[in-house]
Amino acid sequence: MNKDLNIADCKKEIERLEEEVTQLDLENNRLRLEAKTYQHNELKLYEIQRIASTGSWEFNQITSAFKCTAELAEILEVNAKSLPTWESFLQLTHPEERSRLDEALQESIVLKKSFEIEHRLQLSSGKIKYIKHFCKSFCASNGMLINSIGLVQDITNLKNAENQLAYLANYDPLTGLPNRHLFQDRLKHAIQQAGRNGKKVALLYLDLDHFKAVNDALGHPIGDQLLLQATDRIKHSIRESDTAARLGGDEFTVVIEQVENSLQVALVAEHLLTALSQPYQIGSHEVFVSASIGITYYPTDGRNINKLLKNADSAMYLAKEQGRNNYCFFTNELNVKAKDHLQLESRLRMGMIEDNFLLHFQPQIEITTGRILGAEALLRWMPKQTLVNPDRFISVLEDTGLIVPVGKWVLEKACQTAKRWQQNGFSDFRISVNVAARQLRETDIVSVIKEILQNSGLAPKYLEIELTESTLIDSTISRQNLKHLEELGVRLAIDDFGTGYSSLSYLQQYSVDTLKIDRSFINNLSKNSADDAITAAIIALAHTLGMEVVAEGVETIEQLQSLEKLKCNQAQGFLISQPMPKSDFEKWIANYSDESTGSSMLWQLFTR
Ligand code: C2E
Ligand code: MG
Ligand code: MG
Repeated sequence: MNKDLNIADCKKEIERLEEEVTQLDLENNRLRLEAKTYQHNELKLYEIQRIASTGSWEFNQITSAFKCTAELAEILEVNAKSLPTWESFLQLTHPEERSRLDEALQESIVLKKSFEIEHRLQLSSGKIKYIKHFCKSFCASNGMLINSIGLVQDITNLKNAENQLAYLANYDPLTGLPNRHLFQDRLKHAIQQAGRNGKKVALLYLDLDHFKAVNDALGHPIGDQLLLQATDRIKHSIRESDTAARLGGDEFTVVIEQVENSLQVALVAEHLLTALSQPYQIGSHEVFVSASIGITYYPTDGRNINKLLKNADSAMYLAKEQGRNNYCFFTNELNVKAKDHLQLESRLRMGMIEDNFLLHFQPQIEITTGRILGAEALLRWMPKQTLVNPDRFISVLEDTGLIVPVGKWVLEKACQTAKRWQQNGFSDFRISVNVAARQLRETDIVSVIKEILQNSGLAPKYLEIELTESTLIDSTISRQNLKHLEELGVRLAIDDFGTGYSSLSYLQQYSVDTLKIDRSFINNLSKNSADDAITAAIIALAHTLGMEVVAEGVETIEQLQSLEKLKCNQAQGFLISQPMPKSDFEKWIANYSDESTGSSMLWQLFTR
């Protein structure tokens, strides 16, 4: 009986144990599953943190244990195990922001609150990273603080992009100088300061001379290099407290604060001009440019940015008009000049109607024989019976585009007159006519000239058009048109040669018949050895390329003698004659040749 009972108990016990094993198995499976899920979640968390460039740390307040995730170690560029304390984390925080971060954590512990700050890291490699740092401190149910958890997000890329955007909004990407936006900010600030301390501010508006020609002739990469070198020179010519900016293209500004007197500003302008006019070595090219500067003062020349800029721009144009490589202060006279310009423009428009234009003719002679070869036609404007200087009105005609109809009139009159003189016995008389870039750009010059030659009956070889170097290298003119004029048989002369930007490559592109040496070289002939050398070189170059050379502005016998020695072909200048109206020119020609010798009195003197 007892034995039976024992067996029954044992059976029960076995069943209970079996039940327990089943439960344990179930529990085991559940735990395994849970562990897997945990592992999976951990992997997921790692992945998420990696994607978000985020790592985390945990600081146990009871054990003082500091743990960080692999992702945080990756951000900090350290081995996860070598980061055991909060202090070592602080060591990798940028020194300027270390105490701020530490104080934020202490405060979060004491006040049991969270914080969110942005700060920099300075890693052992010296690399700087930007971090967004969230932290929360947790308490147990009894209110006792257990741990703090931090989330660290690497926002370096974002910050760099933000910085880049801010940079682009304020700085010129090529030169690194402040752009127009930042310049205006700085000028505004300078004006406010000056308003408070009663000092003056000077604004220098600087434009490189003939920069466009460099770009056109040598290409934009060389132009960019030139701008970089010019920027360097500008920076070295001013004080650190002065602001240089690039407004665009070849336009720069310099703001000088705390101005004591005009001399101080003039000196800065002089330094800038000297620095900028030194030759630029760019690769294998040696490039020459200069600058023109307009200067205004706050408050005398304008009380706001726009006015100061506008007036400085006008002063800069005056500096250009006065021969470039120059600076000019804005004065009231300039204001008057601007108004004068406007008046001149409307008077010139009237002039077209009232027929106040006329031509003067200046003879060109062959140096060895004294023979007259032809004349240059020069435009004159005589409103109300007084002649206006061409330097004043031709630029206005060019600026306003009036040069197009007026220039056509010049060509017509010049060709008609030359033809008349040919018919009167001077059968091979040649006429030279100045043609502006706008005429080549804005008209079908080939058809215009063809028609004029046809109407006047002048053969194309007796018409020479004079273009300046800058016109020839102007990329906006039609090169095709010039080729057609060549084919037509019209002669081409380069006027004022040696004063423009001389990339001589265009001499090969066009068949140039004549080089006219600018009078600035002739003026100092036999007085200045550099001018002698340049004149000799131009003549040699022209002859090598099969061109004729005309010396402009010959005023003395000595100059003529030097030119003869240098084998210059022709001369034009006051020594021979001033430009004259048509009727005077006819009388002059009649008197020029001595009937008996066939040459002029001047020539008899010259060849004696
Ligand atoms: P340019 O073509 O170089 O003309 C020569 C200038 O030098 C003329 O000035 C002439 O009077 C001056 N000149 C000649 N010999 C001497 C001399 O011995 N000494 C000095 N100091 N000067 C001398 P002008 O007539 O005042 O003309 C100035 C400029 O105006 C011309 O320079 C030319 O660029 C432009 N121009 C004249 N007529 C026209 C025209 O019909 N169309 C265009 N587009 N421009 C013109
Ligand atoms: Mg000329
Ligand atoms: Mg000339």
